[in-house]
Amino acid sequence: MHSYILSFDDFFVPADNLVGGEAGAGRGFYLQMSGFAAGRLQTGGRALGVAQAALSRTCEYVSSRRQFGHAIGEYELTRYTVGRMAVRIAAARHLTYAAAEAMEAAERGGAGAPSAREADLLAAMSKLLASDVAVWVAQEGQVLHGGWGYAEETAISRYVVDAQVLPIFEGAKPVLELRVIGAALLRG
Ligand SMILES: Cc1cc2nc3c(=O)[nH]c(=O)nc-3n(C[C@H](O)[C@H](O)[C@H](O)COP(=O)(O)OP(=O)(O)OC[C@H]3O[C@@H](n4cnc5c(N)ncnc54)[C@H](O)[C@@H]3O)c2cc1C
Repeated sequence: MHSYILSFDDFFVPADNLVGGEAGAGRGFYLQMSGFAAGRLQTGGRALGVAQAALSRTCEYVSSRRQFGHAIGEYELTRYTVGRMAVRIAAARHLTYAAAEAMEAAERGGAGAPSAREADLLAAMSKLLASDVAVWVAQEGQVLHGGWGYAEETAISRYVVDAQVLPIFEGAKPVLELRVIGAALLRG
């Protein structure tokens, strides 16, 4: 990631551009935060994509790479690892779909619909879980690629890098655990 500094000196913003109109005065932080649930949901989906791609590539690799007379996918430890990868992805996928459905239902409203707060909580949980799963699956996949796992030519090395940012943006992992999910549960 390359980063740049933007600075604004004596930059006039007309009152008409106040976010949220007059009612938004002093509430910019809360208005900004209200957009985060959708961002967390899409990060959950994005994490699933990274994790699934890492699993698929790993399955292809361990089926073709041979060591000591066998494809490494024939060794039990490889199958055990691939199985654990798949189960975690499935769990993250179901939570992410549930969060998407809850957000849609909350927006539609009506009897039995979850509240926006419940839907936002699920979105935060899906982001948290799917990001952790993506990091873990990509790293396990990298190890199963052996030395090729570190080579820039292989997709798995890119997935490892791409996964690393997922627990950081749209709410860093500890902030989601502590401030968003933990606090929401204990607030009742
Ligand atoms: C590739 C990339 C793309 C991004 N894209 C966007 C974008 O499009 N739009 C946008 O607005 N932002 C974007 N961001 C910014 C991103 O959302 C923030 O970097 C992220 O939310 C973390 O905030 P921070 O960097 O200020 O970290 P900090 O808030 O400084 O956190 C640093 C560490 O301190 C911990 N911490 C902070 N507060 C607490 C607390 N109260 N209790 C316990 N621990 C705490 C955090 O968990 C973290 O581990 C992007 C970042 C990256 C890396």
